[in-house]
Amino acid sequence: MISISNVEEINYLTNFRKKLHQFPELSGEEKQTAEALVDELKLCNPTTIITELGGHGVAAIFKSPLKGKTILFRAELDALPIQEENTFEHTSKYSGISHKCGHDGHATMLIGLARMLKLNPLLKGEVILLFQPAEENGNGAKAVLADEKFKSIKPDFVFALHNVPDYDKGTIIVKNNSFTTSVSSLKITLKGKTSHAAEPENGINPDLALQEIIVAIKGLADNNVDSETFTVVTTVYANLGSEDYGISADYAELHFTIRCWTAKQLKKIKEISSTTVQNISKKHQLKHTLNWIFEFDSNNNDDKAVDYIVKAANSNSFKVLEKQTPFKWGEDFGAFTQQYKGAMFAVGSGKETPALHNPDYDFPDEITPYGVKMFHSIIKLIHA
Ligand SMILES: [Zn+2]
Ligand SMILES: [Zn+2]
Repeated sequence: MISISNVEEINYLTNFRKKLHQFPELSGEEKQTAEALVDELKLCNPTTIITELGGHGVAAIFKSPLKGKTILFRAELDALPIQEENTFEHTSKYSGISHKCGHDGHATMLIGLARMLKLNPLLKGEVILLFQPAEENGNGAKAVLADEKFKSIKPDFVFALHNVPDYDKGTIIVKNNSFTTSVSSLKITLKGKTSHAAEPENGINPDLALQEIIVAIKGLADNNVDSETFTVVTTVYANLGSEDYGISADYAELHFTIRCWTAKQLKKIKEISSTTVQNISKKHQLKHTLNWIFEFDSNNNDDKAVDYIVKAANSNSFKVLEKQTPFKWGEDFGAFTQQYKGAMFAVGSGKETPALHNPDYDFPDEITPYGVKMFHSIIKLIHA
């Protein structure tokens, strides 16, 4: 049995992760990253490699001649439009783009798993290592699922993990049912009429409507984390008029993200927001548009899949923490868990590690073996 605890293997994976970190690519543009992964996967002798899945997605399929369950593990390919603030040797080579969610680390964990499957071939069934594109904008999972090339893949179970700072390194965090929130973003435009800045009464300025909408939409928040109706409302962008001092503005734009524990609550909030924007626009004689974008389904964890995760952690003597409420971020793996039995779990990435999406974040390589071991143990448990 080849072990991931081997120092040479850990160094190999660390170097690979740092290479991915240096050449980050944005959602939908992960061509080079996918190529680097395919090169690495080819060394692991999978039965098949599928490329260009839902964009630049890659799936490596390991098949045993003996019948058994099909298990899919997912990692992500994309980085973020954030300027890296770290000055270490493996800092991002691309200005304004960096891996600030640890997707370089998650992909490396699956490479570690592929290397283990090469040396310890599957005894039965099938394992699919899916490297999914465009997670950060919520498009990738849906695109992979809709891709014709994915139709031949019929997983019995799907699994994914995410590293989470502020928890001890290697702690396995689990939860039944909702694991992440349902998220939707809202883009509103308001259109009135310009006039001379000296005569705003002759135009229709969306300034008051903009204010009223912010107050009303923010008012839908429910901060009670223990409640089913928990709702987070965040204003992410606002714009009114232009820097022309002779003109009373005629245009405004407002963007929010809304997160709820449940899909049901999100649906309710969406309906109220739409009516509110409509009423305020009407009152101020403004034309408006309203679009819901960047939608993430909540991860719906299956009890049996969570049970496998807990057993896998126990078999490795990893600390397990059962979370009481879902994570507040959206994760598009939800599109998989809404369709297949499966679960997402988290691996603590250290109390001292900066938060996800912070400019000084970097994936801590010490947790890579935890991910590889968890996935490998899950295979062993399901194929036992
Ligand atoms: Zn992210
Ligand atoms: Zn992420």
